[in-house]
Amino acid sequence: LGRRINAAVHDLTHSNLVDEKAFDSMIKEIGNALVEADVNVKLVASLRKSIRQTVNFKELGPGVNKKRIIQKAVFDELCRLVDSHSEPYKPKKGKANVIMFVGLQGSGKTTTCTKLARWYNARGFKACLVCADTFRAGAFDQLKQNATKAKVPYYGSYTETDPVKVAKAGVDKFKKERFEIIIVDTSGRHRQEAELFAEMVQIQEAVQPDQTIMVLDASIGQQAEAQSKAFKESADFGAIVITKTDGNAAGGGAISAVAATKTPIVFIGTGEHILDMEKFEPQRYISKLLGMGDMQGLVEHVQSLKLDQKDTMKHIAEAVRDLRDQLNNIMKMGPLSKMAGMIPGLSNLMGDVGDEEGSMKLKRMMYIMDSMTTKELDSDGKMFVQQPERMTRVARGSGTSVREVEDVLTQHKMMAQMAKKMKGGMKAMQQGGMGR
Ligand code: GDP
Ligand code: MG
Repeated sequence: LGRRINAAVHDLTHSNLVDEKAFDSMIKEIGNALVEADVNVKLVASLRKSIRQTVNFKELGPGVNKKRIIQKAVFDELCRLVDSHSEPYKPKKGKANVIMFVGLQGSGKTTTCTKLARWYNARGFKACLVCADTFRAGAFDQLKQNATKAKVPYYGSYTETDPVKVAKAGVDKFKKERFEIIIVDTSGRHRQEAELFAEMVQIQEAVQPDQTIMVLDASIGQQAEAQSKAFKESADFGAIVITKTDGNAAGGGAISAVAATKTPIVFIGTGEHILDMEKFEPQRYISKLLGMGDMQGLVEHVQSLKLDQKDTMKHIAEAVRDLRDQLNNIMKMGPLSKMAGMIPGLSNLMGDVGDEEGSMKLKRMMYIMDSMTTKELDSDGKMFVQQPERMTRVARGSGTSVREVEDVLTQHKMMAQMAKKMKGGMKAMQQGGMGR
């Protein structure tokens, strides 16, 4: 998506005929890219309108950076759309906070329940889980397994078939035991929708949740609006979690869900593992959606590795110059597919390769850099222009190809530019628009 939007803006700012017609066709192209990324069609129409208003094309003088201004307008407008401007419920210590989950089957409720229980546990709350999914065979076993792994107490029943009764019994039990976060997982069977909604309302009445959270699969696409509206109408929820944002889904559905229900997104699921959950940050989400690279995410990820912060920042800001170190650290950080999305340029470099293949690719890059002298690396490829035979020798020395050596040099240049930008501060980067 980011690439298409950038391309549209690029076309405009590089065409000789920078007139209003070109501007209009660019806005149209951005709109099409957004619809393809599953942003609701009507939303896109209003977005186009407000970009046109924000960027008064006629008034942009010749000296202004049109690309920046247009990109920033798109970014700001999308951020505004995913920001519901309402605060989600904040649990209080020392009392029982009941949180109920709703959402279609397979959306990720049970997984997210456990992630959330662990999240609160890690923040000093006494959290537990109640399985009110009596519909799906094996539902209780799944919750039990997850809860055990996360060391979270749980409640459920193999014999009771009424989910309302199980939910009530579980919540009552844990309230007596002075648990502070009681999370109720429900079923999300597909068939007989009316019945599902009736069941959710009955459970809500029985356990009186302080917060109801709707779980939405990121791959729901254009259906996000209709589905979140349907849930909102019966089982009014106060927060949304978008799951599977690590997958191939375009991610625009989240924007539609917020806009349709005026409800904040609180977390996003980023994988199957219990730790794969992040607080939702509108700016971060949109920059990822637009392919700007997730700088903030990268920094936080590195920090969560409990390295010394100073060293870490030094690493990111300064040592990027030495790409070899950088790649080494990236490989330590975790699944490459996840890292790739966080670093501008790296996702392009990696293409659609899997983790294993990606690791191999990075390793080969390191071999290449090991075969180069520091001077050669820092010369941005200039030294190789003067001595092309060195390129062949580096390729042979590292057991790779000349083509791969060229790739490394290109990438190295990009990383060095990025490092310069980062030195300029995160703020400047965030405000700097989407250009690479
Ligand atoms: P439920 O039917 O709503 O309770 O959904 P589950 O919690 O059972 O999840 C359905 C599937 O989605 C399971 O295989 C989960 O591992 C998977 N899943 C849930 N959240 C995520 C996520 O954020 N990322 C990925 N990749 N998979 C997820
Ligand atoms: Mg479930």
